[in-house]
Amino acid sequence: MNILVLNCGSSSVKFQIIETDLDLIEKNADRRLASGLLERVIGQALITLQAEGQAKVRRAEPLRDHRDAIDCVLRWIISPESKINNINSLADIHAVGHRVVHGGEKFTKSVLIDDAVIEQIEDNIELAPLHNPANLKGIMAARELLGPGVPQVAVFDTAFHSTMPDTSYLYAIPYQLYRRHRIRRYGFHGTSHRYIAYRYRQLKGIKREEVNIITLHLGNGCSVCAIKNGQSVDTSMGFTPLEGLVMGTRGGDMDPSLIEFIRNKEGMSVREIDTMLNKQSGLLGISGLTNDMRELLDEEAENQDRRASLAINIFCHRARKYIGAYLAELAGADAICFAGGIGENSAIIRERICTGLAWMGLELDKSRNTAMVGGKEGEISTANSRLKAFVIPTNEELLIARDTVRTVKNVPRRW
Ligand code: ADP
Repeated sequence: MNILVLNCGSSSVKFQIIETDLDLIEKNADRRLASGLLERVIGQALITLQAEGQAKVRRAEPLRDHRDAIDCVLRWIISPESKINNINSLADIHAVGHRVVHGGEKFTKSVLIDDAVIEQIEDNIELAPLHNPANLKGIMAARELLGPGVPQVAVFDTAFHSTMPDTSYLYAIPYQLYRRHRIRRYGFHGTSHRYIAYRYRQLKGIKREEVNIITLHLGNGCSVCAIKNGQSVDTSMGFTPLEGLVMGTRGGDMDPSLIEFIRNKEGMSVREIDTMLNKQSGLLGISGLTNDMRELLDEEAENQDRRASLAINIFCHRARKYIGAYLAELAGADAICFAGGIGENSAIIRERICTGLAWMGLELDKSRNTAMVGGKEGEISTANSRLKAFVIPTNEELLIARDTVRTVKNVPRRW
């Protein structure tokens, strides 16, 4: 089957076409046929498209909304210009898999989209006002443009964390707030953490129930997940993606009393403070320079910029603190696994996070760590290290495509 995987953000659309099926999954032989990114979807959009084995195509085109964006993708897919293997017409797209950010408490696994599912995703808009509306626009546009005969599947960022126990997911605030408004920790990046755990299991040749690891997804958004017997038992993001680690522009954990204090001192509204915590904090807020880790590392190395260093150090300190907490929570783990743009590419950040963890048995192999960049996958700890470390480049799109196939064929997923 050829699966169109769609990830619709508030102003962007990412897509991939992946050829996969039950036997291809078994053989780990699924193939990406094409991919692309449409940025600034409302306005003069920047469009990057690429069929596997072909050069990237870049162009700008005015787009009004997500429907226009998906229409543009579909037109390109079937145009002779795209040269995508095995795709000649829209009939060659057999199903669509959508990344949906918030599944609330209702969705604990991927589901076939029908009117009832759409309604429930709509109900979750108040939990994810920035993300779910864009995901829904993608679903409606794909349905309209491909027709109701093409099955669509929703894969939720929150679903993998639905196994968290109440001791992890409840905030210690009056319990009726959970009862009345479902205020609790949901966690995000679930598809990424699930993929990392799945690959770790494959690399080690072990059963799902034997996976006891800590996964770190360190990209623009960052989160850690504690995985016990193959299931998420805790994660650093909470009711929204704001909680937890220091991220590109999000500050992560902080004292909620700061909101009232900042409101009084700075004369800002609660909404403005919320924007500040989500968009102007984290690496950007501390450094005053950029949310981009690579640029901060350059600033630190070339100009000895004090605040760039401070931002990097706070980032690493917070990640280390979570690793320690999750090791205690899991009563020990077999490995920590790094993923995401920073986790996959920055040996120095991995080293700085792991510094000071030798006492708990983690020993990085310097040369393996330095070599494990640019999409490489493998172990970065020494042979004697009691706690192992791995780099596992994430691939959420692949899991979305596989979930789509299994859901359409009504085969329960084993992972
Ligand atoms: P997103 O969460 O938006 O998908 P990514 O996973 O691509 O983002 O991660 C983006 C982050 O990865 C940026 O902070 C970027 O600087 C960082 N990054 C990418 N390559 C490197 C590198 N070689 N060294 C350090 N950081 C890197």
